[in-house]
Amino acid sequence: MKPVIALVGRPNVGKSTLFNRMTKSRDAIVADFAGLTRDRHYGDGKHAGRSFIVIDTGGFEPEKPTGIVAKMAEQTQAAVAEADVVIFVVDARAGLSAQDHDIARYLRTANKRALLAVNKAEGMVESPALAEFFELGMGEAHPVSAAHGQGIRSLLDAALDDFPEDEEDAEEGADAPIRLAVAGRPNVGKSTLINTWLGEERLVAFDMPGTTRDAISVPFERNGRRFELIDTAGLRRKGKVFEAIEKFSVVKTLQAIADAHVVVLLLDATQGVSDQDAHIAGYILESGRAVVVAVNKWDAVDSYQRQMFERSLEQRLAFLRFAEVLQISALKRQGLTPLWRAIGDAHRSATTKMPTPQLTRLLHEAVEHQQPKRSGMFRPKLRYAHQGGMNPPIVVIHGNALEHVTEAYKRYLEARFRAHFKLVGTPMRIEMRSSK
Ligand code: GDP
Ligand code: GDP
Repeated sequence: MKPVIALVGRPNVGKSTLFNRMTKSRDAIVADFAGLTRDRHYGDGKHAGRSFIVIDTGGFEPEKPTGIVAKMAEQTQAAVAEADVVIFVVDARAGLSAQDHDIARYLRTANKRALLAVNKAEGMVESPALAEFFELGMGEAHPVSAAHGQGIRSLLDAALDDFPEDEEDAEEGADAPIRLAVAGRPNVGKSTLINTWLGEERLVAFDMPGTTRDAISVPFERNGRRFELIDTAGLRRKGKVFEAIEKFSVVKTLQAIADAHVVVLLLDATQGVSDQDAHIAGYILESGRAVVVAVNKWDAVDSYQRQMFERSLEQRLAFLRFAEVLQISALKRQGLTPLWRAIGDAHRSATTKMPTPQLTRLLHEAVEHQQPKRSGMFRPKLRYAHQGGMNPPIVVIHGNALEHVTEAYKRYLEARFRAHFKLVGTPMRIEMRSSK
């Protein structure tokens, strides 16, 4: 599970700037779950081979000034509760304030590992001004400049010190369990689906030796295929039985998505596709996970509502067009067999092996069928292709002047590779590597 870092501190100390700095990787994504979490922002970062989630409480603008302190405390406490490590940000130029002392006092009682980052410290590394922050009793101060990118690396070294590097996941055996997560906003029916699954007679829970995951996950077997269900719904173990209890957690959802092979994105047919659904879908896509869209509560909608739902799906989740969409009723146990089939197909697609000779042949056929456009003096020359990774499948194309290959042409190539390898339910990436 990805470690979670929370940024706390009073307004204007530079938390948002630091957040942007920490998530400034190729895979950075800011998922906003407005309404659910007020103004907490969640982003992905990676540092020294370690992926992490960072929560910022900075974007928060209270409506009434009188509420500031209370609201901020609420945000801070919620972020701290979700975090493994807290970075407490103070302002080197403004110096210490009463609010800083309040936050420090709170953090000392919160029982979380906390680091002190003294921001806006560009050009102040040896400055005696930094000494005053020892007063906070937070231990060593880390001088940083979020705006100038100074000191960030050593701050992250310290924050992530205790966490292992990301595991290499490529060479899992063909019969390794499929890690499965059910993601969706509150009330779409996650718990109902999970309980229905776990109550299915064809599903056999088994004890998996050597499971080291901290988060609860349920191993089970279905028709000879092993699965591991990652908790997003608040699973609780009752003796040998698991039970899903509804408690939505953004962090759990994000971690589970990152950790899964296949994500079932659960939607509610009676509600249409909401902003929150689209945010979760966007995060799944950014994470490169295989995904199956399950439209739940299909039993409860009439034909007009069904049409309306299809339309909102088309409008709002167009970017997940590669995913299969299935209508189900978790409550009435309808559509579950096709759902298992789709999960299996998505997993197979995400982990397909694409041998270099075959990819290269497909590439040549595609180019023969339709040449890439010339760009000024350059005509891209696509020579050969190899697989750069799986889950999601990555095709790396080698050749010359490849920076002139258009997005439209990449989509054309992707469609040809997809059709040949029958890839459904997984995003796919095409990377170009020009040789000089
Ligand atoms: P937040 O309210 O804590 O999220 O703070 P912001 O990230 O919005 O930053 C508040 C102000 O401080 C902005 O004007 C930033 O440009 C400025 N700021 C942020 N980091 C630095 C820094 O490292 N050095 C300086 N001099 N200014 C900074
Ligand atoms: P969660 O918050 O996503 O875990 O959602 P729950 O599983 O707690 O379900 C929320 C509500 O939707 C409950 O009242 C369920 O009985 C209801 N529900 C779940 N699945 C279905 C379904 O397939 N059809 C109908 N009609 N209601 C459902």
